This record gives sequence, structure tokens and C-alpha cells, in this order.
Amino acid sequence: MYEVIVIGGGPSGLMAAASAAEHGAKVLLIDKGNKLGRKLAISGGGRCNVTNRMERKQLIEHIPGNGKFMHSPFATFDNEDIIQFFEGLGIQLKEEDRGRMFPVNDKAQTVVDTLLRRIQDLRVTIWTNAAVKTIDYLDGKVDSVKLMDGQVLKTKSIIVATGGKSVPHTGSTGDGYPWAKKAGHTITELYPTEVPITSDDPFIKKKALQGLSLRDIELSVINPKGKIIKTHEGDMIFTHFGISGPASLRCSQYVVKALKKFDVSSIELRVDLFPGKSEEDLFQELWKSVKAEPKKQLKNVLKVVTQERMLLYLYEHLSIPSEATCANISHEVLRQLAKTLKQFIIHANGTLSIEKAFVTGGGVSVKEIEPKTMHSKKAEGLYFCGEVLDIHGYTGGYNITCAFSTGYTAGKSAAERV
Ligand SMILES: Cc1cc2nc3c(=O)[nH]c(=O)nc-3n(C[C@H](O)[C@H](O)[C@H](O)COP(=O)(O)OP(=O)(O)OC[C@H]3O[C@@H](n4cnc5c(N)ncnc54)[C@H](O)[C@@H]3O)c2cc1C
Repeated sequence: MYEVIVIGGGPSGLMAAASAAEHGAKVLLIDKGNKLGRKLAISGGGRCNVTNRMERKQLIEHIPGNGKFMHSPFATFDNEDIIQFFEGLGIQLKEEDRGRMFPVNDKAQTVVDTLLRRIQDLRVTIWTNAAVKTIDYLDGKVDSVKLMDGQVLKTKSIIVATGGKSVPHTGSTGDGYPWAKKAGHTITELYPTEVPITSDDPFIKKKALQGLSLRDIELSVINPKGKIIKTHEGDMIFTHFGISGPASLRCSQYVVKALKKFDVSSIELRVDLFPGKSEEDLFQELWKSVKAEPKKQLKNVLKVVTQERMLLYLYEHLSIPSEATCANISHEVLRQLAKTLKQFIIHANGTLSIEKAFVTGGGVSVKEIEPKTMHSKKAEGLYFCGEVLDIHGYTGGYNITCAFSTGYTAGKSAAERV
């Protein structure tokens, strides 16, 4: 009999299996796919943003979905432990902007292979192409794991690491939620997060700005009363359906929640193309440039301020004749231009689907999980880790960090209990 059965071979399940075996348990890892770590292998654009080197406080701040819960698992295994874990196994990591850590060879597969080697060395039994149908419970305790092929495996400890519902071809199809429900757990509402935002504004439908990237902007989500819900800085890109890029992904969950909360068909987004300058300073700058070159065409003078494509769109939007020269431009028009560059409005009507999202929001309620052990408060011997839980971070390595941390903690506690 296996002392610990881990269901799911993503980052959380792989780390849980390694940790349980390191702590002396006889472990079986089951995955329904033909390979382990399928999502991990495509993560970070194939480079795997394996963790983030920020201080604990900032780390938690970058986990908007129940980040505070992570204090306890991080006390057991945090970002620095993840770095040491991989470096100890001969995988050097490098730090990029905003604390993001990647393997030096930029290959996510190296991260997967390292974890696989580790669990093989620790003699974890691995079953692939083995889909779990359900978990059975008896007298408030886990009893067995039932496979789709009819096999029943008795055990005392089960770690559910089945992930969320995003990018289902990697095996994350939400299978763990009904098993949690069966034990009496609450599944908080599932929603797409870290997902591109959609809009049916005419300029989006006309694809007027499709493919245009804006660097170092500030994107704000505005509530129907005009108040800012959330602002994120970073880059964004216009697409054929709306907007994407890091700042948009970070704002996406606030769009999803605001559409629901205020029961409206669209939510206003504001792009500030010059976050370091006030509207007045920007206007003065524009005015100075225009005054210095009275004979030149306005678009040629302002090209240095922002991209020509953006300018041409703003011309149309503000009804400025495309051949207008600087001498013919009024204060008022330049003030309008400065205002639009500081507050470019997009109406978001939703996001792409949960299947197309990078991360699933919602999941097994953390209120029903012991944060020091990842043990269920509903059934003895039941543990959860990774994205199946109602925990989610921004892009930047925070989700894999949570998966590794909760996985390590669950594996350790499950092994110590046997
Ligand atoms: C394209 C993409 C890129 C990403 N890049 C990053 C990044 O660079 N950094 C970062 O921090 N986060 C990134 N994320 C998010 C991160 O990959 C996930 O949060 C993380 O993989 C979740 O890990 P997990 O172990 O909980 O679940 P998953 O990785 O989803 O793994 C779940 C596993 O469970 C198995 N399973 C499911 N149901 C069953 C069943 N019934 N029986 C047996 N096995 C089952 C699946 O086959 C799968 O292998 C990215 C996500 C995507 C989609």
C-alpha cells in the first residue's frame, strides 16, 4: 500500500511527491496525461518563470487571490527555498526584471526534467495515462482513490494537485473540485484571471490599433462611479479583440469582478501613456514643441512624444486634420490631446474564457485548509496544493511559487503523519 498518493503531476504535485518521499513516505504519483509537467513545460513562454526573488511582503502583495494564506506555507518552503532546491540539483537560475527567476538556459523543460529526476531518485512510483475518477471517504477519513479503469487504491493520505481549469489540453480540467465537494469542501466561484481583456469599442472592432504596443503605461480599472478600483503599470498591446500584455493581464480579474459586482455590460479602463508626468506638464511640453516648429506638420513634431499610429488614431478621435501644421494648432486642441494621452479610455466588456486564461481564480476555499500543513479541515488524510486551491498570483512567477510552496508543505505534512 502506498502511504501517500499524489494526484496530478504539475509543479505542485511533483514538488509534493518529492517532499513526501524526502520525508520518508512511500509515494505514488498519478497523472492522467502521457507526460508529467505539461503546463510547466510551456510556462513562461517555454522559459518557465520558476519563482520570484522579491521580499516576502512584496511576494504576498503579488498574490491577490488569498496571498495572506501563503504566510504559513512560505514559512515552510519559500521562494529562496525554491532557488536552493533547483541550484542544489545543479540547475542555475538567473534573475530578470521585477525579480523574475528563470533557468539560465531559458528552457522550461529543464525544470520539468530536474523534478522528474528528483522524484525518480527518491523512488516515487509514477503512473502516467492513469486518470483518477474519484476519491472515496469513510468515517470522515480518506479511504481510497478510484481510477477510471476501475482500479481502487487504498491509502491513508491523498494529496490533490489537479490544478485549475485553464489551458485544458495540459490536463487541467477541473477534476479535483467535485472530489473536494464530496468531502464537504466549498468551491468558491471559478473565473478566468491573468487573461486578455475584450472590448467592442468601435476602434477595437475596426482593428485601428491592433498590434500596437504601449510601454511603461499605467492601466486603471474604473468603477461605474468613476473611482479607480485598481491600477497596474507595465506594457500592454492592442489585439483584434481588445487588449493583452502584462498590465492588461494583471487588471483582468478586476474587470471580471467589477462586471459582476456592478451588473453592467462594460467597465471603463483608463490608459495613462505618461504616468510620470502631470497633464499640465505634458501639455506644456507639447506646446513648447509645437511653438518651436510652427511650419512643420503637427504629426512630425509629436512623433517624438508617442508612436505615429497612436497619434493618427488620436487625430481622428479628436477631429484634428491629418495635415495640420503646428502654427494652426490651438491651445484647446493640445490640451485635449494631452488629456487623451493621460486618460485614453477603453470599455471592457469581458475577458477571454477561463480555458484561455493563464490562471484559474477561485477553487477549494482556503478557509477549510490548515495553512501550516495543507491538510483539509473536512476529511482526515486529505491534502490540497497548487491551483486547485482558491489562491492565485499575478504573472511573474507567483503561481508556480505558490504551487511549489503548497506542494512541498503538503508532501512534508502527509509524510510526517504516516
Ligand atoms: C501558458 C501558461 C504559462 C504560464 N507561465 C507561468 C510562469 O512562467 N510562472 C508562473 O508562476 N506561472 C505560470 N503559469 C501558471 C502556472 O503554470 C500554474 O499556476 C501551475 O502550473 C499550477 O500548477 P498545479 O500543479 O497546481 O496544476 P497543473 O500544472 O495544472 O497540473 C495539474 C496536473 O493534474 C493532472 N490531472 C488533472 N486531473 C487529473 C485526474 N483526474 N487524474 C490524474 N491526473 C489529473 C493534469 O494532467 C496535470 O498534469 C502559466 C500558465 C499557463 C497556462
